[in-house]
Amino acid sequence: MDGGSGIIRLGRNLPENIKEVNILLTHLHLDHIMGLGYFSPLYDPDCKVKIWGPSGSMESFISKLMRYFSPPLFPVRLKELPADIQINEIENTTFNINDITVISEYICHPGPTVGYRCEIDNIIISYMPDHEPLLGSSNFPNSAEWCSGFNIAKEADLLFHDAQYDSAEYDRRIGWGHCSIKDAIEFGNLSKVKKMVLFHHDPTNSDEQLEAMFNENVENKNLNFVVVMGKENDVFFL
Ligand SMILES: [Zn+2]
Ligand SMILES: [Zn+2]
Repeated sequence: MDGGSGIIRLGRNLPENIKEVNILLTHLHLDHIMGLGYFSPLYDPDCKVKIWGPSGSMESFISKLMRYFSPPLFPVRLKELPADIQINEIENTTFNINDITVISEYICHPGPTVGYRCEIDNIIISYMPDHEPLLGSSNFPNSAEWCSGFNIAKEADLLFHDAQYDSAEYDRRIGWGHCSIKDAIEFGNLSKVKKMVLFHHDPTNSDEQLEAMFNENVENKNLNFVVVMGKENDVFFL
């Protein structure tokens, strides 16, 4: 999921015998692709790398990706990468990756951006790192069917979701494509998820600030689903 700085470590730790990799990009803002060029499977001629991402009305996904993989931003061009690379443009699409059914759908965020829903057996994992549900409907959080991202998140066992700001910060940044931790929790509640991981924290907020945001919005709120703050190296068992 996405190609931020974490994908570099993932590449280093992948078992050698893995020769097919799928990367699902939600959109091409820099924080979601800044690690992509350093992902080791892209340099393995025996590895097939399938990159999935949203099409746009003005410029194709592959054309935007080629802009990142070209000087002066990056020394290696997309076509020069040794791996067998396949680019897949998706919209509101259902597709399969081995035994995983993946559903992508456009969600509220500047530029073409999708959320992903992965269904494996009876487990549903949803992923929306950048999302502003408040702008998706006029009466958020009251009409589920009109709410941006609802189809991706509904009844998920595990939802990874944007929670970049506290309420005061969000009031100054409406339309930037992110949400307050309060709205994120409203969205999780509306979507009837079982567990929600809040992440895409604002880089300027300290751990102490995040803890205060969590205490204010989650602790003692009697939520009927589990909410945790995401951090590096977390592992979730379903
Ligand atoms: Zn973004
Ligand atoms: Zn982002």
